[in-house]
Amino acid sequence: MLKVENLHCEIDGQPILMGLNIELIPGKIHVLMGPNGSGKSTLAKTLMGHPSYEVTQGSVELDGEDMIDAEVDEKSQKGLFMAFQYPVEVPGVHFTNFLRMAYNSRQPEGKKIPIFKFNKLVREKAELLGIEQELLDRNLNEGLSGGEKKKAEILQLAVLNPKYVILDETDSGLDLDALKIIFSGLTKLQEVNPEMSFLIITHYQRIFDYIKPDHVHIMYKGKVVQEGGMELVDQISKEGYSNFKK
Ligand code: ADP
Ligand code: MG
Repeated sequence: MLKVENLHCEIDGQPILMGLNIELIPGKIHVLMGPNGSGKSTLAKTLMGHPSYEVTQGSVELDGEDMIDAEVDEKSQKGLFMAFQYPVEVPGVHFTNFLRMAYNSRQPEGKKIPIFKFNKLVREKAELLGIEQELLDRNLNEGLSGGEKKKAEILQLAVLNPKYVILDETDSGLDLDALKIIFSGLTKLQEVNPEMSFLIITHYQRIFDYIKPDHVHIMYKGKVVQEGGMELVDQISKEGYSNFKK
């Protein structure tokens, strides 16, 4: 479990998170919603250990271990992953080679995967996700479209297979085809790895056509103020956030 208790966090001395509690349960789909400025992105960045965000109180535990001061690498080794934060535009690099480097960087010494085996793995994942094989042969300096970049990134997620995945407004700017591939893809990844869990930060109701949350958390002014299921999403689509402000 990823357990966040009474988290307080400041930027330049300004309190942003003010006593936030949330638990991410392995194998579950969590959705985090809340008005602009409520601190959703701050939570995501603080969990990843962004240096501008200073934790002043509270705890973050990843499978029972304190993670507040852990290095990004250590968090990543333990399975925490912020999806779509790593730029896939690396000039002159073949996409599959780029993925293999990312994969091998997480393997212990002596356990690096051979090229042919890795190529097979990537092809299988692309097929599972419904991503065209041509994307695998592209060079990253060729200028991928917005949708292609997101597909490339979910493939990265499929290959690296983390346990806790945070997605901060991954839906923004996607056309419906890409939206479907990404969000139905997350469900498929979870079928392959039932331990995988997601914290999906979103405003966009359309994603719920493709993914069904187990838990919905509503943030307001630096705290989670309400938790429940899909009924909260329905309430927000009808009334906005006005009834959550406390
Ligand atoms: P959300 O993602 O819910 O829209 P944010 O976490 O981006 O909210 O922002 C929460 C508050 O923190 C806002 O008032 C925002 O202005 C402030 N904030 C976020 N990042 C920074 C930053 N790097 N410097 C100064 N203020 C920030
Ligand atoms: Mg945000």
